[in-house]
Amino acid sequence: MLLGVIADDMTGATDVALMLSRAGMRTVQVIGAPSAGAGLPEADAVVVALKSRTNPVVEAVADSLAACEALLKGGARQILFKYCSTFDSTAEGNIGPVANALMERLGAKRAIICPAFPANGRSIYQGCLFVGALPLHESPMKDHPLTPMRDSNLMRLMSAQAKTGVGLVDYATVLAGPEAVKARLATLEADGVRYAVTDAVTDEDLMTLGRAVSGDVLVTGGSGIAMGLPRNFRSAGLLPERAGPPAFTAPPGRAGILSGSCSTATRGQIEAALAAGYPALKLDPLALAEGRQDAAGLAAWALAQPADRPFLVYSSSDPAEVSAVQERLGRERAGSLVEHTFAELARRLAEGGVTRLLVAGGETSGAAVLGLAIRTLEIGCEIDPGVPWTRVVDGPRMVVALKSGNFGAPDFFVKAWTLLGPAAQPAS
Ligand code: ADP
Repeated sequence: MLLGVIADDMTGATDVALMLSRAGMRTVQVIGAPSAGAGLPEADAVVVALKSRTNPVVEAVADSLAACEALLKGGARQILFKYCSTFDSTAEGNIGPVANALMERLGAKRAIICPAFPANGRSIYQGCLFVGALPLHESPMKDHPLTPMRDSNLMRLMSAQAKTGVGLVDYATVLAGPEAVKARLATLEADGVRYAVTDAVTDEDLMTLGRAVSGDVLVTGGSGIAMGLPRNFRSAGLLPERAGPPAFTAPPGRAGILSGSCSTATRGQIEAALAAGYPALKLDPLALAEGRQDAAGLAAWALAQPADRPFLVYSSSDPAEVSAVQERLGRERAGSLVEHTFAELARRLAEGGVTRLLVAGGETSGAAVLGLAIRTLEIGCEIDPGVPWTRVVDGPRMVVALKSGNFGAPDFFVKAWTLLGPAAQPAS
C-alpha cells in the first residue's frame, strides 16, 4: 500500500476512492475501523470509510486512530484524512480533533486543509470556501440537518475546532507553483503554525498542491486534493502506469433508490425521478416515531412495485419540514430514527431480490451499508463527478451507488441505471 485514506463518511470515501482509481491507483474501500490485527486488502490505496463526521468527538478520534494504525501496518507511506468538500462539521469538530490526533500519532509537524473540489463547484479563495458562486454560509449548507455551516472562513472554522492557530497559503502563492507553496508551508511551520488552509480554484491548483505535499506524512482535505497525490508515487517509481477502473457489470435483479438526504441537489433529483414516473413512497419521521410506518412495511411496499422500473423511498424534505420534525423529536432522534429505518430497509430489500441500489446522503449511505453488512467495495464506473457505481465484494451480490447529498446532476436518479447495461430483471 502506498496511500492510506481515512474518510469521515461513506459517500466521501467512495468519492475519494474513485478519484484515486481514475488516477491509476488500484483502490479498495473498506467499511468501518478495522479491528486490531485485522489485515487490509492488498492495493495501491486503501480507503477506510468511517462514520466519524457526526458521532461524538471521542469516538471519531478513536475510530480514526484505529484506521490510521491499520493503514500504517498495511504499509501506507502517506495518510490522507478526507472530509467533505463543504467542511461539514460542528463547532466541536470532528475535523479539528481528528486532525490533531492523527498529527500526533504520525509525528507530523504540519498539515494542509484543502476541501476544494472545483469539478463540483467547491473553491477556496483567501481561505474562504465557496459553493459555486456563494460563500459556504450563504449556500444551502447553512440548513444542513446535522452540520449547518454558518461561517465560510476555513481558518476560523479550523482554529476553533483544533484550538490552534491556522495559516493561509494564498492564491498568488499557489499560482507561483509547488516550490513557492513548499516555501510558504515551511515558513508557517517555522512560526509554529500547524495547519495551513490552501487556496485552490482549479484542478491545476490541486495538482500544484499535491506536488507540494509529496513529503508530508499527513494531508487533509476533500477528494479533490487526492487528485495530485498519485503522481508523486509515480514520479518516485513506486506506482506503475495503470488504466482506470476495471470494466463493470451488475447482477440481474430489481432496482431501487433510498434517499435520506435533504440537500437541494437531492430534492431536485427526487423531482426528476417523480416526473419520470418512478413509484415513490415518502418516509415520515413522525410516523416512524408513532409506529405508523416501519421498515417492514416500507420494504413490502417497495417489493410490491412493478419490477420494470426503480422504486424510490425517501425522507428528503425541505428545511421547514425538517425543522418542524426536529422540534417535535429532537435533531438526533429524528436523524437516528430515519437512519435506522433505512438500514433495516436496505437489508430487507437485498433479501427481497434488489441487486441495484442507489442511496442518497452520506449518513444515510453509512446506515444502508451497515444494514447490508458490507465490509469491502470495489470501485466501478462514474455516474457523475464523485459518484461511482461500486460492487459489493463480501456481502450481498449487488451493486450500490452511494451519493453524497450535494452531488450529482438533476437527472442522476434516472440516468444512473443506463450504465448498468440491460434494464433490471427480477431475480429468479
Ligand atoms: P447529506 O449527504 O445530504 O448530508 P445525510 O444522509 O448525510 O445527507 O444527512 C441527512 C440527515 O438528515 C440524516 O441524518 C437523516 O437521517 C436526516 N433526515 C432525513 N430526512 C429527515 C427528515 N424528514 N426530518 C429530519 N431529519 C431527516
